[in-house]
Amino acid sequence: MKSHARVVVVGGGVMGVGLLYHLALEGWTDVVLVEKGELTSGSTWHAAGQCPHFNGSLNMTRVHLYSTQLYARLEELTGHAVSWHGCGGLRLASTDEEVLWLKHVYGISRLAGYEAHLIGPAEIPQHHPYLDAFGVKAAFLTVTDGHVSPSDITHAMAAGARKLGAEVYRRTLVTDIKRLASGEWQVVTDQGSIVCEHVVNSAGSYADVVGAWTGHNVPIANMLHHYMITEPLQELIDLERELPVVRDPYSHAYLREETNGVLVGPYETATAHVCWDGRPPAWDFESELIAPELDRLVPSLERAAERFPLFGQAGLKTVISGAITHTPDGVYLSGPAAGPPNYWMHTGASIGIAQGGGAGKYLAQWMVHGQAEINMREFDPRRFGPWASREYTTAVATEDYHHMYYCYKPAEQHAVGRGLRKSTLYDRLAGEGAQFAQVFGWERPRWYDTSGTGERYSWLRSNWWEPVRAEALAVRERVGLMDLSTFSKYEVTGPDAHAFLERICANRIPARDGGIILGHLLTPAGFIESELTVTRLAADHYYVLSAAVAQLHDRDQLEWRKRPGERVAIADVTDEFGTLVLAGPRAREVLSAATRADLGNAAFRWLTGRVADVAGVPGVRLLRVNYVGELGWELHTPMRRMPEVYDALRSAGVAHGLKLFGTYAMNSLRIEKAYRGWGSELTNEVTMIEADMERFVNYDKDFIGKDATVAARRAGPRVLLAYLDVEARKADCLGNEPVYRAERVVGLTTGGAHGFAVDKTLTFAYLDPALVKDGADFEILVRGERCRARVIAQPAYDPKNERLRA
Ligand SMILES: Cc1cc2nc3c(=O)[nH]c(=O)nc-3n(C[C@H](O)[C@H](O)[C@H](O)COP(=O)(O)OP(=O)(O)OC[C@H]3O[C@@H](n4cnc5c(N)ncnc54)[C@H](O)[C@@H]3O)c2cc1C
Repeated sequence: MKSHARVVVVGGGVMGVGLLYHLALEGWTDVVLVEKGELTSGSTWHAAGQCPHFNGSLNMTRVHLYSTQLYARLEELTGHAVSWHGCGGLRLASTDEEVLWLKHVYGISRLAGYEAHLIGPAEIPQHHPYLDAFGVKAAFLTVTDGHVSPSDITHAMAAGARKLGAEVYRRTLVTDIKRLASGEWQVVTDQGSIVCEHVVNSAGSYADVVGAWTGHNVPIANMLHHYMITEPLQELIDLERELPVVRDPYSHAYLREETNGVLVGPYETATAHVCWDGRPPAWDFESELIAPELDRLVPSLERAAERFPLFGQAGLKTVISGAITHTPDGVYLSGPAAGPPNYWMHTGASIGIAQGGGAGKYLAQWMVHGQAEINMREFDPRRFGPWASREYTTAVATEDYHHMYYCYKPAEQHAVGRGLRKSTLYDRLAGEGAQFAQVFGWERPRWYDTSGTGERYSWLRSNWWEPVRAEALAVRERVGLMDLSTFSKYEVTGPDAHAFLERICANRIPARDGGIILGHLLTPAGFIESELTVTRLAADHYYVLSAAVAQLHDRDQLEWRKRPGERVAIADVTDEFGTLVLAGPRAREVLSAATRADLGNAAFRWLTGRVADVAGVPGVRLLRVNYVGELGWELHTPMRRMPEVYDALRSAGVAHGLKLFGTYAMNSLRIEKAYRGWGSELTNEVTMIEADMERFVNYDKDFIGKDATVAARRAGPRVLLAYLDVEARKADCLGNEPVYRAERVVGLTTGGAHGFAVDKTLTFAYLDPALVKDGADFEILVRGERCRARVIAQPAYDPKNERLRA
């Protein structure tokens, strides 16, 4: 066994091996994989091997698509036999909302570039003569996906990795991982230790135990999952080509052909549970099944027999029941763990066979080149904080399993695992009808429902439309109040704080106390990593704000960019401050009733901040900025005392028609102002030039990513962010809708909303730069409808920022 390696991957399932192979392909060959048993002896060996293309996320689709393309060629690439079955798939839809979902996914198929067709029930027999299409309204037919033997692809990728120089140590149990003073990791095994630069936790069902050695929380639950295969049937023996894999919400199961029998894998909708009482089994558990629980599956199996009657006509030959890892959002964890650098997660896959190839490729790119060619944010393990406890993870993962084939509408979330992080206004806002969304554990109001019905989730505009219009217009015409305590908040202090921020942000850091700037952290290659609002409280004291979901990500970005010896401290004060946004033409009158601070334009200019008493509460950080484009202040208040400030503003606001507003209205208001958002328009796939954010770049100083930004400017943008007015009347752009010029896809949306003050449906889109001209016409596919869209050159509302400066 080697004593040193560049990378040690812990776990020889499809995820770990897929990564090892792609690390080697990307050029890192001093890489080692350690497996306690034989390769594939965890979940991988007994998977059913389906590899679908149908997926609602563009980036996840790219992962799946790469995998299927790889598996079809893997034998040729590695010389190891692989039994790829490219039989295609059929996803059924039985409700109008499911049909809308298929239409949305069809748009994603256009962007990802795989063949898909939306077909009616009458066409199903051409593709699957043995399916009973009762109740089916439409189906999504994919042509090039299929299924594969999980063992074949894992061993083939291992063979490919070995050929390139990677090493695999089987029958070697990792017993501990330690961080050394050098910053390297020591992987301790029962055969000796290996010191490495990077360590990867790919331990499948054991990933939480392995993570705990280094204090990492790994939110996975091991769910018990079954599938069964019947004896061969003559009808299937006689078929000339293999039937597509069917995914059916009615039986909540996948149904396909396997060795001339029928294979059915149900996802129970009410009785699912974790294996082994929620703890991983002993280390010597290897290639074993868990006792099946067939009685629980009967309702699903009966429905499966209605859908695919041949299933009911043959005896069962094989029953497989094993553990399948689930994260709370059903997406695997792949990327850096929070904290010291170079500890990576690559685990938690519940469709890991379909994902193993692509997941390995894109994480390998991230590790080797500092970034992947797709946006990895949705896989980043740091999307879960310490609030994602074992109880939370078990409850939400179980619900996620129950809903495997349920059609989640946009904004619809799990009903369990809620109320983890609440601002001190939670009860007051709930009493006002707040419809909360869970964001990084927080409960954050989306909109206020006074009817008591709650949100009717839909792929189209729904019952929130009129109340949100009233909220948005109240901000534009009078004054609105919002609880935005979910901001991530940091204090950056110390003698080198200014120089540090100047070095890491593309924008100039304020030279005067009270100055506020929008600053972007770029990767060395010039891509947008983080967006921060930086307020200078003193020369050695800065208050830094960023997106709620970025709390761990941005803390890492700040910490990791510190140089040895730099006298700067970073403290996460997210939970210490609550944030109120008071905005609208009457904001000054309302706020002046609660503070003696001079709020006049001369004394308190736009983009400045100061500390003041508000409603008798000392130490409130008043920042004259907002994301809605009106006169207004953010009030960063000691969290415990925020109710006093809120009550004072509410009562002062009565005379001015103050209205509470939530994130739906905020999204509408921000898009009218053409404000970009981190994670949607601003991602690490694009440069500041491509995002049309160059006004926030100061070329007169040095900053990380400057050389690359200068080079990108010289080379010209590969894509360009455009702002469009869309003729969509029933639905808004969600992001990842294809944009067409005639029949050619020329870009994709990043997200939009209706601007109520301007009565326009607006969206951003990344387009071919040559086509982005004021007034240029396009079409956007919104839930199956081609909608005309026209580029507009400036913000639809108040392009000169007169309202902000008022
Ligand atoms: C019944 C069933 C059907 C499924 N069907 C499908 C399907 O059709 N399509 C699909 O895409 N997915 C399917 N899956 C899911 C799929 O099996 C998993 O998502 C995938 O195998 C996860 O791979 P992994 O590498 O993360 O985990 P694993 O395969 O469990 O690999 C983890 C490895 O880490 C090793 N390990 C753990 N701790 C240590 C340690 N301390 N030292 C050394 N080694 C260690 C383990 O021995 C194990 O080999 C199915 C799962 C089940 C149970």
